[in-house]
Amino acid sequence: MRAIVLDKPRQPLQLRDVDKPRATKGQLLVRIATCAVCRTDLHVVDGELPDPKLPLIPGHQIVGHVEEIGEKVNSKFKVGDRVGIPWLGWTDGECAFCRSNRENLCDQARFTGYTIDGGYAEFTVADARFCFHLPDDYNDVEVAPLLCAGLIGYRAYRKAGNARRLGIYGFGNAAHLIAQIALYEGRELFVFTRPGDMATQQSAKALGAKWAGGSDELPPEKLDAAIIFASVGPLVPAALRALAKGGIVVCGGIHMSDIPSFPYADLWEERIITSVANLTRRDGDEFFGIAPRVPVITKTETFPLEQTNIALDRFRAGKLKGTAVLLIANAGHPEQSEGPHTRSQVHAN
Ligand SMILES: [Zn+2]
Ligand SMILES: [Zn+2]
Repeated sequence: MRAIVLDKPRQPLQLRDVDKPRATKGQLLVRIATCAVCRTDLHVVDGELPDPKLPLIPGHQIVGHVEEIGEKVNSKFKVGDRVGIPWLGWTDGECAFCRSNRENLCDQARFTGYTIDGGYAEFTVADARFCFHLPDDYNDVEVAPLLCAGLIGYRAYRKAGNARRLGIYGFGNAAHLIAQIALYEGRELFVFTRPGDMATQQSAKALGAKWAGGSDELPPEKLDAAIIFASVGPLVPAALRALAKGGIVVCGGIHMSDIPSFPYADLWEERIITSVANLTRRDGDEFFGIAPRVPVITKTETFPLEQTNIALDRFRAGKLKGTAVLLIANAGHPEQSEGPHTRSQVHAN
Protein backbone atom coordinates (compact mmCIF):
# COMPACT_ATOMS: atom_id res chain seq x y z
CA MET A 1 0.00 0.00 0.00
CA ARG A 2 1.04 3.61 -0.40
CA ALA A 3 2.04 5.38 2.80
CA ILE A 4 3.73 8.55 3.92
CA VAL A 5 6.60 7.62 6.21
CA LEU A 6 8.67 9.56 8.73
CA ASP A 7 12.14 7.97 8.85
CA LYS A 8 13.64 10.52 11.21
CA PRO A 9 12.34 13.73 12.79
CA ARG A 10 13.19 16.99 11.06
CA GLN A 11 13.30 15.31 7.64
CA PRO A 12 10.68 15.53 4.89
CA LEU A 13 8.20 12.66 4.89
CA GLN A 14 8.62 10.00 2.20
CA LEU A 15 5.89 8.55 -0.02
CA ARG A 16 6.60 4.83 -0.17
CA ASP A 17 5.12 1.40 -0.81
CA VAL A 18 4.93 -0.56 2.43
CA ASP A 19 3.30 -3.83 3.47
CA LYS A 20 -0.41 -3.62 4.09
CA PRO A 21 -1.03 -4.29 7.79
CA ARG A 22 -3.13 -7.26 8.94
CA ALA A 23 -5.80 -7.13 11.60
CA THR A 24 -4.80 -9.19 14.62
CA LYS A 25 -6.90 -10.03 17.68
CA GLY A 26 -9.25 -7.20 18.59
CA GLN A 27 -8.31 -5.07 15.60
CA LEU A 28 -10.06 -3.65 12.57
CA LEU A 29 -8.37 -3.32 9.22
CA VAL A 30 -9.55 0.02 7.88
CA ARG A 31 -9.40 1.35 4.31
CA ILE A 32 -8.64 5.02 4.89
CA ALA A 33 -10.68 7.70 3.12
CA THR A 34 -9.28 10.83 4.76
CA CYS A 35 -6.88 11.83 7.50
CA ALA A 36 -6.79 15.32 8.96
CA VAL A 37 -3.49 16.90 9.96
CA CYS A 38 -3.12 17.98 13.60
CA ARG A 39 -0.55 20.31 15.14
CA THR A 40 0.69 17.30 17.09
CA ASP A 41 1.73 15.76 13.77
CA LEU A 42 4.00 18.77 13.28
CA HIS A 43 5.40 18.33 16.79
CA VAL A 44 6.17 14.66 15.97
CA VAL A 45 7.69 15.40 12.55
CA ASP A 46 9.68 18.33 13.93
CA GLY A 47 11.14 16.24 16.77
CA GLU A 48 9.41 18.11 19.58
CA LEU A 49 7.90 14.96 21.13
CA PRO A 50 10.17 12.25 22.55
CA ASP A 51 10.59 8.70 21.27
CA PRO A 52 8.20 8.30 18.34
CA LYS A 53 8.01 4.87 16.71
CA LEU A 54 10.42 4.98 13.75
CA PRO A 55 9.90 4.63 10.90
CA LEU A 56 6.42 5.99 11.51
CA ILE A 57 3.25 6.59 9.51
CA PRO A 58 1.88 9.77 11.18
CA GLY A 59 -1.74 10.88 11.40
CA HIS A 60 -4.39 10.40 14.07
CA GLN A 61 -7.62 11.90 12.72
CA ILE A 62 -8.49 8.97 10.51
CA VAL A 63 -11.76 8.34 8.69
CA GLY A 64 -12.24 5.10 6.80
CA HIS A 65 -14.29 1.97 6.30
CA VAL A 66 -13.90 -1.40 7.93
CA GLU A 67 -12.32 -3.79 5.44
CA GLU A 68 -11.68 -6.77 7.71
CA ILE A 69 -12.40 -7.65 11.30
CA GLY A 70 -9.86 -9.49 13.43
CA GLU A 71 -10.68 -12.19 15.98
CA LYS A 72 -12.46 -11.27 19.16
CA VAL A 73 -13.82 -7.92 18.07
CA ASN A 74 -17.13 -7.14 19.74
CA SER A 75 -20.15 -6.71 17.50
CA LYS A 76 -20.03 -2.91 17.51
CA PHE A 77 -18.60 -2.88 13.96
CA LYS A 78 -19.24 -4.76 10.75
CA VAL A 79 -17.45 -4.82 7.41
CA GLY A 80 -18.18 -1.62 5.47
CA ASP A 81 -18.96 0.53 8.51
CA ARG A 82 -17.50 4.00 8.55
CA VAL A 83 -15.20 4.47 11.55
CA GLY A 84 -13.08 7.20 13.07
CA ILE A 85 -9.70 6.41 14.61
CA PRO A 86 -8.40 8.93 17.16
CA TRP A 87 -5.15 9.69 18.97
CA LEU A 88 -5.72 7.27 21.86
CA GLY A 89 -5.03 3.94 20.20
CA TRP A 90 -4.63 1.46 23.05
CA THR A 91 -4.60 1.27 26.85
CA ASP A 92 -3.96 -1.64 29.20
CA GLY A 93 -7.30 -1.26 30.97
CA GLU A 94 -5.64 -2.39 34.21
CA CYS A 95 -3.57 0.40 35.72
CA ALA A 96 -4.81 2.73 38.44
CA PHE A 97 -5.60 5.40 35.85
CA CYS A 98 -7.59 3.11 33.58
CA ARG A 99 -9.57 1.77 36.53
CA SER A 100 -10.51 5.29 37.65
CA ASN A 101 -11.97 6.58 34.35
CA ARG A 102 -8.69 8.25 33.43
CA GLU A 103 -7.55 6.05 30.58
CA ASN A 104 -6.16 9.20 28.97
CA LEU A 105 -3.37 8.97 31.58
CA CYS A 106 -2.69 5.22 31.19
CA ASP A 107 0.96 4.38 31.86
CA GLN A 108 1.06 1.99 28.92
CA ALA A 109 -1.08 4.00 26.48
CA ARG A 110 -0.22 3.87 22.78
CA PHE A 111 -0.96 6.74 20.48
CA THR A 112 -2.01 6.65 16.84
CA GLY A 113 0.49 8.23 14.50
CA TYR A 114 3.07 8.55 17.29
CA THR A 115 3.84 5.27 19.05
CA ILE A 116 1.79 3.17 16.60
CA ASP A 117 1.33 3.73 12.87
CA GLY A 118 -1.37 6.17 11.85
CA GLY A 119 -3.40 7.36 8.92
CA TYR A 120 -1.18 8.92 6.25
CA ALA A 121 -1.66 5.68 4.28
CA GLU A 122 -4.18 3.64 2.33
CA PHE A 123 -4.84 1.22 5.20
CA THR A 124 -4.30 0.97 8.91
CA VAL A 125 -5.20 -1.38 11.72
CA ALA A 126 -6.75 -0.12 14.94
CA ASP A 127 -7.94 -1.60 18.21
CA ALA A 128 -11.71 -1.75 17.72
CA ARG A 129 -12.38 -0.65 21.30
CA PHE A 130 -10.92 2.77 20.54
CA CYS A 131 -12.65 3.37 17.19
CA PHE A 132 -15.76 5.52 16.91
CA HIS A 133 -18.85 5.43 14.78
CA LEU A 134 -19.14 8.87 13.19
CA PRO A 135 -22.27 11.03 12.82
CA ASP A 136 -23.85 10.72 9.36
CA ASP A 137 -24.30 14.49 9.18
CA TYR A 138 -20.69 14.90 8.11
CA ASN A 139 -18.91 13.60 5.02
CA ASP A 140 -15.43 12.02 5.22
CA VAL A 141 -13.63 15.35 4.80
CA GLU A 142 -15.78 17.39 7.16
CA VAL A 143 -15.67 14.89 10.00
CA ALA A 144 -11.90 14.27 10.05
CA PRO A 145 -10.88 17.40 12.03
CA LEU A 146 -13.38 16.49 14.73
CA LEU A 147 -11.31 13.44 15.64
CA CYS A 148 -8.62 15.37 17.47
CA ALA A 149 -9.08 19.12 17.30
CA GLY A 150 -12.68 18.36 18.23
CA LEU A 151 -12.19 15.63 20.83
CA ILE A 152 -9.22 16.99 22.71
CA GLY A 153 -10.55 20.52 22.34
CA TYR A 154 -13.75 19.26 23.92
CA ARG A 155 -11.88 17.73 26.83
CA ALA A 156 -10.14 21.09 27.39
CA TYR A 157 -13.51 22.83 27.20
CA ARG A 158 -15.06 20.50 29.79
CA LYS A 159 -12.09 21.11 32.09
CA ALA A 160 -12.91 24.80 31.95
CA GLY A 161 -16.05 23.95 33.93
CA ASN A 162 -19.14 26.06 33.98
CA ALA A 163 -17.43 29.29 32.93
CA ARG A 164 -19.83 32.02 31.86
CA ARG A 165 -17.03 34.16 30.45
CA LEU A 166 -14.62 31.91 28.56
CA GLY A 167 -11.36 33.10 27.05
CA ILE A 168 -9.59 31.26 24.23
CA TYR A 169 -5.94 31.95 23.43
CA GLY A 170 -4.95 30.90 19.92
CA PHE A 171 -7.84 30.70 17.49
CA GLY A 172 -6.79 27.73 15.36
CA ASN A 173 -8.64 24.55 14.47
CA ALA A 174 -9.48 23.30 17.95
CA ALA A 175 -10.52 26.77 19.12
CA HIS A 176 -12.78 27.28 16.11
CA LEU A 177 -14.63 24.02 16.85
CA ILE A 178 -14.89 24.51 20.60
CA ALA A 179 -16.01 28.14 20.26
CA GLN A 180 -19.10 26.90 18.40
CA ILE A 181 -20.04 24.60 21.28
CA ALA A 182 -19.35 27.32 23.85
CA LEU A 183 -21.66 29.74 22.04
CA TYR A 184 -24.29 27.03 21.60
CA GLU A 185 -24.18 26.51 25.37
CA GLY A 186 -24.67 30.23 25.97
CA ARG A 187 -21.21 31.22 27.15
CA GLU A 188 -19.63 34.61 26.49
CA LEU A 189 -16.55 34.18 24.38
CA PHE A 190 -13.36 36.26 24.52
CA VAL A 191 -10.79 35.42 21.85
CA PHE A 192 -7.08 36.27 21.98
CA THR A 193 -4.93 36.13 18.84
CA ARG A 194 -1.39 37.11 17.94
CA PRO A 195 -1.17 40.88 18.51
CA GLY A 196 -2.28 42.64 15.34
CA ASP A 197 -3.94 39.63 13.72
CA MET A 198 -7.06 41.59 12.81
CA ALA A 199 -8.29 39.01 10.29
CA THR A 200 -8.53 36.27 12.92
CA GLN A 201 -10.07 38.70 15.41
CA GLN A 202 -12.68 39.62 12.80
CA SER A 203 -13.50 35.98 12.11
CA ALA A 204 -13.86 35.30 15.85
CA LYS A 205 -16.30 38.19 16.14
CA ALA A 206 -18.18 37.01 13.06
CA LEU A 207 -18.58 33.63 14.75
CA GLY A 208 -20.10 35.34 17.79
CA ALA A 209 -17.27 36.23 20.16
CA LYS A 210 -18.18 39.08 22.52
CA TRP A 211 -14.65 40.45 22.31
CA ALA A 212 -11.51 39.67 20.32
CA GLY A 213 -8.08 41.19 20.77
CA GLY A 214 -4.36 40.55 20.98
CA SER A 215 -2.87 38.17 23.54
CA ASP A 216 -0.99 41.19 24.96
CA GLU A 217 -4.31 42.82 25.90
CA LEU A 218 -6.55 42.31 28.90
CA PRO A 219 -10.21 41.55 28.20
CA PRO A 220 -12.87 44.11 29.20
CA GLU A 221 -14.18 41.72 31.87
CA LYS A 222 -12.48 39.18 34.11
CA LEU A 223 -12.76 35.63 32.78
CA ASP A 224 -14.03 32.57 34.62
CA ALA A 225 -11.81 30.32 32.53
CA ALA A 226 -9.29 30.48 29.74
CA ILE A 227 -8.19 27.74 27.36
CA ILE A 228 -4.78 28.08 25.73
CA PHE A 229 -4.53 26.30 22.39
CA ALA A 230 -1.34 28.07 21.23
CA SER A 231 1.91 26.32 22.20
CA VAL A 232 3.31 29.52 23.69
CA GLY A 233 4.33 29.34 27.38
CA PRO A 234 4.18 33.11 28.09
CA LEU A 235 0.44 32.93 27.45
CA VAL A 236 -0.02 31.08 30.77
CA PRO A 237 0.80 34.04 33.05
CA ALA A 238 -0.99 36.33 30.59
CA ALA A 239 -4.14 34.24 30.87
CA LEU A 240 -3.84 34.05 34.66
CA ARG A 241 -3.89 37.84 34.82
CA ALA A 242 -7.15 37.85 32.84
CA LEU A 243 -8.93 35.54 35.31
CA ALA A 244 -11.43 36.32 38.01
CA LYS A 245 -10.91 34.76 41.45
CA GLY A 246 -11.25 30.98 41.37
CA GLY A 247 -10.72 30.92 37.60
CA ILE A 248 -8.92 28.21 35.68
CA VAL A 249 -6.36 28.22 32.88
CA VAL A 250 -6.49 25.06 30.77
CA CYS A 251 -3.49 24.32 28.55
CA GLY A 252 -4.92 22.34 25.65
CA GLY A 253 -1.79 21.38 23.73
CA ILE A 254 0.60 18.45 23.97
CA HIS A 255 3.65 20.69 23.70
CA MET A 256 4.34 24.22 24.91
CA SER A 257 7.40 26.43 25.18
CA ASP A 258 8.61 27.15 28.72
CA ILE A 259 6.36 29.14 31.01
CA PRO A 260 8.08 32.24 32.41
CA SER A 261 7.97 32.91 36.15
CA PHE A 262 5.23 35.15 37.49
CA PRO A 263 4.22 36.65 40.85
CA TYR A 264 2.34 34.36 43.21
CA ALA A 265 -0.30 37.06 43.50
CA ASP A 266 -1.46 36.15 39.98
CA LEU A 267 -2.24 32.59 41.11
CA TRP A 268 -3.55 33.53 44.56
CA GLU A 269 -7.28 33.43 45.27
CA GLU A 270 -7.68 29.85 44.12
CA ARG A 271 -6.83 30.30 40.51
CA ILE A 272 -5.86 27.01 38.84
CA ILE A 273 -3.52 26.05 36.02
CA THR A 274 -4.03 22.63 34.45
CA SER A 275 -3.25 20.78 31.26
CA VAL A 276 -5.21 18.34 29.16
CA ALA A 277 -3.64 15.08 28.10
CA ASN A 278 -5.08 12.94 25.34
CA LEU A 279 -8.71 11.87 25.47
CA THR A 280 -10.94 9.18 26.85
CA ARG A 281 -13.50 7.24 24.86
CA ARG A 282 -16.15 8.95 26.92
CA ASP A 283 -14.97 12.36 25.66
CA GLY A 284 -15.45 11.03 22.14
CA ASP A 285 -18.94 9.68 22.76
CA GLU A 286 -20.02 12.95 24.35
CA PHE A 287 -18.48 15.10 21.66
CA PHE A 288 -19.91 13.12 18.75
CA GLY A 289 -23.27 13.39 20.49
CA ILE A 290 -23.22 17.17 20.74
CA ALA A 291 -21.33 18.13 17.54
CA PRO A 292 -24.16 17.43 15.05
CA ARG A 293 -26.69 19.19 17.29
CA VAL A 294 -24.77 22.51 17.34
CA PRO A 295 -23.93 21.76 14.48
CA VAL A 296 -20.17 22.19 14.73
CA ILE A 297 -18.94 23.21 11.29
CA THR A 298 -15.40 22.41 10.20
CA LYS A 299 -13.29 24.38 7.75
CA THR A 300 -10.94 22.26 5.71
CA GLU A 301 -8.47 22.36 2.85
CA THR A 302 -7.89 19.09 1.07
CA PHE A 303 -4.63 17.71 -0.29
CA PRO A 304 -3.90 14.44 -2.07
CA LEU A 305 -1.66 12.09 -0.09
CA GLU A 306 1.31 12.90 -2.37
CA GLN A 307 1.15 16.51 -1.20
CA THR A 308 1.46 15.75 2.51
CA ASN A 309 4.75 17.65 2.83
CA ILE A 310 3.17 20.68 1.17
CA ALA A 311 0.22 20.48 3.56
CA LEU A 312 2.56 20.32 6.57
CA ASP A 313 4.69 23.20 5.30
CA ARG A 314 1.62 25.36 4.81
CA PHE A 315 0.35 24.46 8.26
CA ARG A 316 3.72 25.25 9.85
CA ALA A 317 3.79 28.60 8.07
CA GLY A 318 0.25 29.49 9.17
CA LYS A 319 -0.96 29.60 5.57
CA LEU A 320 -3.94 27.24 5.77
CA LYS A 321 -7.50 28.53 5.62
CA GLY A 322 -8.79 25.46 7.46
CA THR A 323 -7.65 22.11 8.74
CA ALA A 324 -5.56 20.25 6.17
CA VAL A 325 -7.25 16.97 5.26
CA LEU A 326 -5.42 14.34 3.23
CA LEU A 327 -7.56 12.58 0.60
CA ILE A 328 -6.49 8.99 0.45
CA ALA A 329 -9.07 6.55 -0.93
CA ASN A 330 -9.02 8.26 -4.32
CA ALA A 331 -5.88 10.30 -3.88
CA GLY A 332 -4.25 11.06 -7.17
CA HIS A 333 -7.43 11.24 -9.21
CA PRO A 334 -7.33 14.33 -11.42
CA GLU A 335 -10.49 15.91 -10.00
CA GLN A 336 -8.93 15.92 -6.56
CA SER A 337 -5.47 17.17 -7.37
CA GLU A 338 -6.41 20.66 -8.44
CA GLY A 339 -5.23 22.04 -5.14
CA PRO A 340 -6.84 22.85 -1.87
CA HIS A 341 -10.40 23.98 -1.58
CA THR A 342 -12.44 25.03 1.37
CA ARG A 343 -15.57 23.33 2.59
CA SER A 344 -17.61 24.81 5.32
CA GLN A 345 -21.03 23.26 5.20
CA VAL A 346 -22.68 20.39 7.00
CA HIS A 347 -26.32 19.49 6.86
CA ALA A 348 -28.08 20.70 9.97
CA ASN A 349 -30.46 18.26 11.57
ZN1 LIG B 1 -3.88 1.84 31.97
ZN1 LIG C 1 -4.16 15.77 17.44
